[in-house]
Amino acid sequence: MDIDKIEAAVRLFLEGIGEDGSRPGLAETPERVARMCSELFGGMGENPASVLCKLFPSEDREPVLVRDIDFQSVCEHHLLPFFGKVHIAYVPDGEVVGLSKLVRCVGICARRLQIQEQMTVQIADAVLSAFHPSGVMVVVEAEHMCMTMRGVRKPGTKTVTFQTRGVFAERPELADRMLARMGLG
Ligand SMILES: [Zn+2]
Repeated sequence: MDIDKIEAAVRLFLEGIGEDGSRPGLAETPERVARMCSELFGGMGENPASVLCKLFPSEDREPVLVRDIDFQSVCEHHLLPFFGKVHIAYVPDGEVVGLSKLVRCVGICARRLQIQEQMTVQIADAVLSAFHPSGVMVVVEAEHMCMTMRGVRKPGTKTVTFQTRGVFAERPELADRMLARMGLG
């Protein structure tokens, strides 16, 4: 990440909106924003599948559901936050993954400039490619500040996105059952 470029851009931005970038409250803002960027967008250079490496053998073929994984991301259309919960279900095929690893996988996908639909796809594909379960289902529920602070200004509006792979895509009744367990049925 080019810290100098981010700082210069923030200085220009402040000037552009008519602010005085030299006033005390703003003097250190460019530097602060630049430092924040590595935290907010640190997932860009990381592969979300690579953290799903802690696998345990399992004969169980019942779906595993990890729900209510909190995430915060930044919308690439407006550079405003969107945030909410991710639910991940998978049907093991000989192996299960360490549950905290799924949380880390979500974190990597969220710490990028994103759109919610694309983040849902990236999480589903990461889980599928990392340990090849026989089915994956990812649901993301999110509130977008670009719908709350501007535009339609509808606080509380939730956008829900789904992705299914494998048995969840082939058998809609299985996906429906899982949605009910996610509290969305
Ligand atoms: Zn937006």
